[in-house]
Amino acid sequence: MSESDGPKQVDSPDYHHENHTAAQTCGWTANALRGEGKCYKNIFYGIESHRCIQMTPVVKCNERCVFCWRDHAGHAYELDGVEWDDPEAVVDASIDLQRKLLSGFGGNDEVPREDAFHDRDITTFLVSNGTRPEVLRECDPTQLYVSVDAAERHTFDEVVKAMEDDAWEKLVETMDVLAEKEETRTVLRTTLVGGENVHHPDWYAGFYRRADPDFVELKSYMHVGESRDRVARSSMLDHEEVVEFAEAIQEHMPDHEYLKEVPVSRVALLSKTDDTWVPKLKKGSEFWNRDPVTGD
Ligand code: SF4
Repeated sequence: MSESDGPKQVDSPDYHHENHTAAQTCGWTANALRGEGKCYKNIFYGIESHRCIQMTPVVKCNERCVFCWRDHAGHAYELDGVEWDDPEAVVDASIDLQRKLLSGFGGNDEVPREDAFHDRDITTFLVSNGTRPEVLRECDPTQLYVSVDAAERHTFDEVVKAMEDDAWEKLVETMDVLAEKEETRTVLRTTLVGGENVHHPDWYAGFYRRADPDFVELKSYMHVGESRDRVARSSMLDHEEVVEFAEAIQEHMPDHEYLKEVPVSRVALLSKTDDTWVPKLKKGSEFWNRDPVTGD
């Protein structure tokens, strides 16, 4: 696909792509490069925002979540005729795109120049909507995220608006796939949309428990991007409401005795352990040895 005939979303000035691989920087990456704070994924898991490449192998989705910041029209293009790159080329493209996206920072004296994006020793955080359990069974990233935005089918239909009839059954099957994972750290993530899916914490707990996740992230819907045309601003939860709902769920998840929170991101984390960082990403690990920013 060329620059001119790619899907609308990929052609947007903020979304850069090489063939089917697309990347976009988030605000936290720029903040971290200027030394102005890091995203909650640093606080929870140790991800350094200045080294985070937010990429997707394809900008297409089989769901139409009401809270999604993306333009759903950009999800609907055909994949027939796409020439698929091999995995190495996808990694190359991701790094190239990130380099271009951050090129403006090369001239910024506040940013160390020797930052090594070409280091291939990259940790992977895979985010999925859980509709392809057969694929997830074969995937062992550093950390596997699956979105669970309802604990029963009716709410799922209202909030997620899946394009395939068996999406709910597939999500349930995905919970069983996660329960079998041993090496991969597993995370269930729920976007809380006021008036839509913030009810029955005990049902959420039951659904989560089926996957035996390492972590559960509960985060308020944010009134940004294309979602502003679908969901009222008042559907955002206060941070206190997020924590309150997380605690109500926690009452039914005795193994997840720890609760962490990042108020600025309106997010709470339920965990079985107090130490939630990816071991490789801990300060002083070999992984960060050559990194000029993390020591700050
Ligand atoms: S799963 Fe939902 S939130 Fe994620 S890209 Fe698809 S429509 Fe957007």
